[in-house]
Amino acid sequence: SCLRILLSKQVLTGRGFARCYATVPTTKNFINGEFVESKTTKWIDLPNPATNELVTRVPESTRDEMEAAVASAQDAFRSWSQTTVLTRQQIMFKFQQLIKDNLKMIAANITQEQGKTLIDAEGDVMRGLQVVEHCCSIPSLQLGETLQGISKDMDTMTFKLPLGVVAGITPFNFPAMIPLWMFPMAAVCGNTSIIKPSERDPGATMILAQLAKDAGFPDGVLNIIHGKHDSVNFICDHPDIKAISFVGSDQAGQYIYERGSKNGKRVQSNMGAKNHGVIMPDANKESTLTQLVGAAFGAAGQRCMALSTAVFVGEAKNWIPELVERAKKLKVNAGHEPDADLGPLISPESKKRVLSLVQSGVEEGAELLLDGRDIKVQGYEKGNFVGPTILNKVKPNMQCYTEEIFGPVLCSLEVDTLDEAISIVNANPYGNGTAIFTTNGATARKYTMESDVGQVGVNVPIPVPLPMFSFTGSRGSFRGDTNFYGKQGVQFYTQVKTVTQLWKSDDAGVKGSATNMPVQR
Ligand code: NAD
Repeated sequence: SCLRILLSKQVLTGRGFARCYATVPTTKNFINGEFVESKTTKWIDLPNPATNELVTRVPESTRDEMEAAVASAQDAFRSWSQTTVLTRQQIMFKFQQLIKDNLKMIAANITQEQGKTLIDAEGDVMRGLQVVEHCCSIPSLQLGETLQGISKDMDTMTFKLPLGVVAGITPFNFPAMIPLWMFPMAAVCGNTSIIKPSERDPGATMILAQLAKDAGFPDGVLNIIHGKHDSVNFICDHPDIKAISFVGSDQAGQYIYERGSKNGKRVQSNMGAKNHGVIMPDANKESTLTQLVGAAFGAAGQRCMALSTAVFVGEAKNWIPELVERAKKLKVNAGHEPDADLGPLISPESKKRVLSLVQSGVEEGAELLLDGRDIKVQGYEKGNFVGPTILNKVKPNMQCYTEEIFGPVLCSLEVDTLDEAISIVNANPYGNGTAIFTTNGATARKYTMESDVGQVGVNVPIPVPLPMFSFTGSRGSFRGDTNFYGKQGVQFYTQVKTVTQLWKSDDAGVKGSATNMPVQR
């Protein structure tokens, strides 16, 4: 009831307010191995998306706190980078076990702060855990190359050495997986990290920090600061931060890429998406429709790899009514309710944006085959819910197509041929993911080769690669040269040093100083 009073505007000033507000837990900074209360005067309210009741207040970390985090990371780097690769591997083994042991607790926090269903939240943690498991093979991953005998008595070898202090800036939609794409790989390569989680759901990162500490991460190897633009600018500008990993929207990603690069940092930036599923008439109808519904509406469409656009080729369009019937059956509910197939959107603003994009589609001539805009969820009337929505006969010039909706809205297009489908996909500026549904190998191969998208699924709707590969979104969905996790992740977090050494077996052939460019033969 305190929270309810708090949220009513009349008592937002005065002593009553101060007393009530004080009972809301605050999210802490994590600096030099300690969870510390921020001294900030600027706090961000974090409501549960299913109820809009306050869960926690997130600080905008002060300049001093952010400086302390970098100083701690800088200091820790000196010793951490000198630990043996086997020591770092052992810590990763412990870390992955602790994540497994606490998976349900992390998932519950994600559902509370972010809204996704519990089972989906467990998937969020699992996909991050798989990166940590992969990090355990660091002695092989960080191997360099050698070539013996490039000249007489001379050999060359490479080492993959850590960069120093690196930073990660994460989005709201995968509160566990995306931080886990970043700091474990950074740490196991010998770097130290500053993470600025999404201010909308930092809880999972905070739990992971506790587990990292328990696993034996030394103080300063992982630090967490909070905030919005000021903390992002701080990271982009700080001379001691050598690299930035960013995942989030286009606007922020392009800005961070440019500001960070201008300051001489290595930056990898995964951004927005518009993923197309191409449905051929020869596809297996049953499994294709099941997969489409799951990939379009799962996580309320708030996945960068959501299949948000369906392109029906030829007679496949006859399946659209059945797709609508299946989507209608999905249960919208608070994420912790056992029957929920999809939960709420992250915020009332996000809901408003999604509704206005659906309306723009209607006004521009799309057919609204399923309308989830007025959904009421019993017991959670204040939540940010939108039900599954399908816009058909969408054209590429419509706003609902040109913008990433990031909600449970499927845009459907109809074309006559595979070539037409490919040209639509390739004319779209994004290149995060795509899928084709077919039983014809030649069709699948043609699509795989001709679609200009970084991650392709063949009868796989959400082709997010496992961490022995890398996450390879392309074109408008990515800026930088080196992708996240897998071999490319190791490359991102390391600098190659090449050593050429001569150990003479005898002094034969020494004829004084040579002033010409040495050419090994
Ligand atoms: P967002 O860009 O709003 O926030 C991401 C981070 O950037 C947050 O930490 C936030 O504090 C910061 N930020 C936000 N606006 C900023 C600005 N103007 N300047 C500087 N920093 C800013 O993204 P979001 O809404 O949290 O996440 C959803 C977006 O992320 C979608 O576009 C989705 O496609 C994308 N995403 C992409 C991938 C991928 O791998 N390509 C994965 C997940 C999410």
